[in-house]
Amino acid sequence: MISVDEHRAAVTELLGMRPVVHRPTAECAGLVLAHDVRAGVSLPPFDNSAMDGYAVRAADVADAGPDAPVELPVSADIPAGRTDIPDLRPGSAHRIMTGAPMPPGADSVVMVERTDGGTERVRIFARAETGAHIRRTGEDVPEGSTALRAGTVLGPAHLGLASAVGQDRLAVYDPPTVLVVSTGTELVLPPDELRYGQIYESNGVMLHAALTALGCRVETVRSVADDVAAFRAAVEPRLDEVDLVVTSGGVSAGAYEVVKDALTEVGVRFTRVAVQPGGPQGRGRWNGVPVVTLPGNPVSVLVSFEAFLRPALLSALGHTHVDRHRVRARLTETLSSPGGKRQFRRGHYTPGEPGGAQVTGVVGPRGGPGSHLLAAFTQANCLIVLPEDVTRAPEGEEVDVLLL
Ligand code: AMP
Ligand code: MG
Repeated sequence: MISVDEHRAAVTELLGMRPVVHRPTAECAGLVLAHDVRAGVSLPPFDNSAMDGYAVRAADVADAGPDAPVELPVSADIPAGRTDIPDLRPGSAHRIMTGAPMPPGADSVVMVERTDGGTERVRIFARAETGAHIRRTGEDVPEGSTALRAGTVLGPAHLGLASAVGQDRLAVYDPPTVLVVSTGTELVLPPDELRYGQIYESNGVMLHAALTALGCRVETVRSVADDVAAFRAAVEPRLDEVDLVVTSGGVSAGAYEVVKDALTEVGVRFTRVAVQPGGPQGRGRWNGVPVVTLPGNPVSVLVSFEAFLRPALLSALGHTHVDRHRVRARLTETLSSPGGKRQFRRGHYTPGEPGGAQVTGVVGPRGGPGSHLLAAFTQANCLIVLPEDVTRAPEGEEVDVLLL
């Protein structure tokens, strides 16, 4: 039996680092930037107006007030996007819109609300501070500076900034194409009718969703019988199109363990991991393609994904934080756990009601330890971690909680 940490390290090593690709900027959300992004332009690229109003010389409106308007001729109209910007002569105003370039000669903007909005001549009812309502070249990002650093997890703001400095593509770690294979002669795909002894397939759907959420492309073999020849025939021809194979079922200690039977001879290593649920695990390569074999019970699949696959994939995709956020919480119920194994219980965490320096809330289990209790998982928002040396965690005890 190997430890949770050993298996996680083995899967992480198996997956390695993904190659860097250049993807359209808008398609990089959630991915990690592989190279720094240098600003090809300043932001803003030119001095521009922060308001709809009038570009003026502050000196020309120095005497303006609510009861003493200053009237100026309007000698140009500058909407956003105008590129030929006439100079402002002293004693005149240019009508200007938000984002339009400041005309040479103007040193401030009076917002339209402080004027009568005139187009030939304008009456201005307020003085202007020099520099008022002007957005200066480069005050957000100077040209040539580093706009985004390698290692950044790209969200909407990062992608917007990348585009704002002129990047139509970004260097990111390429998410793998994953083939998800669900094994079991008992499996039927909804909505086909179930006969006695059969069940609807669910692992493939869960893995598809969990992998897609990390940015992976997912292909599926939704149901393959517990027959070595059938398993080989369904999967082997697809190996050269995918970067990773994830199977569920067929790896434990019974008979008809199709994944174990088919892949032991190609060199996949099957082990027991000191974890509950999800003890039977395997990893290795098949025709050079990484294969991770998960047990069949649905809760085991999801816990294995959290414990092994998710951190390994995040690491392969360049993330430095690969763990779920971990907090300390006080148990609302007594829990028991098998000695020598790390137990992950589905729980519901509620922040607040602390009672200790590190304790941030309370947590109670959802469902028992049974690895078939999928409905209870839907009530959970965390995993309660009971370490290998714990066999009983009494109500009121502080435990580690991984927020999902
Ligand atoms: P196994 O590891 O193949 O013995 O499967 C363990 C349990 O998980 C059995 O009760 C299977 O019926 C169930 N199981 C395996 N694969 C799936 C699947 N894809 N969807 C739902 N249940 C499954
Ligand atoms: Mg099976």
